[in-house]
Amino acid sequence: MFHPPSRPPSSRRYSRRETLWLLSLTTAGWASSSLLSGCSVNPVTGEQQLMLMSPAQELAVDRQHAPQQFSNDFGAVQDEALNRYLTRVGQEMAQLSHRPQVPYNYRAVNATHVNAYTFPAGSTAVTRGILLEMQNEAELAALLGHELGHVNARHAAQRQTRSLFTQLGLSGIGYLSSYYSQTAGMLVNSLGGVTSKALLSSYSRDDERQADALGMAYMAKGGHNPAGMVGLMELLSAQSKQKPNALETMFATHPMSRERLSTAKRRFQESYRNHQAAPNNRARYMDHTATIRAQKPTIEWIQKADTALANKQVSQAESCLAKALKSTEDDYTALVKMAKIQLAKGDARGAKRYVELAKHSYPNEAQALHVAAITNLTSGNPSAAHEDLLAYERVVPGNPQTTFLQGKALDDMQRPSEAARYYRAYLRRGSRDAYSHYAQQRLQQWSQTNPQP
Ligand SMILES: [Zn+2]
Repeated sequence: MFHPPSRPPSSRRYSRRETLWLLSLTTAGWASSSLLSGCSVNPVTGEQQLMLMSPAQELAVDRQHAPQQFSNDFGAVQDEALNRYLTRVGQEMAQLSHRPQVPYNYRAVNATHVNAYTFPAGSTAVTRGILLEMQNEAELAALLGHELGHVNARHAAQRQTRSLFTQLGLSGIGYLSSYYSQTAGMLVNSLGGVTSKALLSSYSRDDERQADALGMAYMAKGGHNPAGMVGLMELLSAQSKQKPNALETMFATHPMSRERLSTAKRRFQESYRNHQAAPNNRARYMDHTATIRAQKPTIEWIQKADTALANKQVSQAESCLAKALKSTEDDYTALVKMAKIQLAKGDARGAKRYVELAKHSYPNEAQALHVAAITNLTSGNPSAAHEDLLAYERVVPGNPQTTFLQGKALDDMQRPSEAARYYRAYLRRGSRDAYSHYAQQRLQQWSQTNPQP
């Protein structure tokens, strides 16, 4: 158990154990719990059903969580033509869906694992990892059509009803116990990219079936060849054999089964044979994803690094990331992952070097600022950490991790009344974890030495 120091540890370097403790701060508990209950009509089935989330609350979930999740996935790819292309393919189908009024938005994100996800009000991301594997626009339409299916059938709102937030709480406990059983490998592996599992936690097999069926209907309506759904399912099945680790998150959020592939094949034969001549627009897909395929070696080295981390082979992961950076020297994802590994190894100077390069490569992305803050905090430079956190807050406002870390930075800067404000704000979030325990203890220590704060 980590005990807070008895006096403010101003300008002192943190031990590796303390560094790991700060690194394991998660977004767990960062969820609104003010839920109204009510019945509403399911837009797809037309049936009345209990929904604990209104469309306005769906929108609030997107606003509150999507920016953080995109940042965890290393931000939007800096290729406006690609993002516009995803938007066009997604929006064309969305306008033909059951809920055209939802404010759908689309971007490619820099994460290299194979995944795609949508928040309940249509904020959608597709990773570099899956863009690299898909072969034509019909497969992309199948992927976005499936995601549209979840939004249109309001699966998140239904799942919310089945107490999503209980799951969120549990995942937080999981992270903390991984800290206490601590090995650096486990911890590094839990850094970033994992939140989607908690936030966008698993849809049921029934939801997946319905999303596949709706996806095929939307893509056919939009003039795509519905065989793209079969292609997508084949791609995912093949990937699960070749690179099981790269798909872990995809399967955690969208349970995959052999049945989904055979259902897609059967549905195509039974219901969509008259769409057989529809185009799959391979050339157009290839043109718009050329920058992603040019990064193939980089993306694959990062995937190998993730596999190594999953097997707790930290130095192996480091050498894979070095190769990724040799292939693309300013790859933001590789730079941030490398910085975290240095930090977890206790090499703050190494971490600082990589994190500065990451900040330079993507100046408007938040995750590097977060890592920079922990690097500065743990190497006895709390005022620089304070600046990093202010910059982070401008990019992704409202993250409780930032609130706690600001408290810690100001605490280390010997500015207790400001630190106390942040610690209290963190406690007001209501999450009970090692950080709230720490904040509570500091506030108690101050109230004992100075009863009128
Ligand atoms: Zn799904």
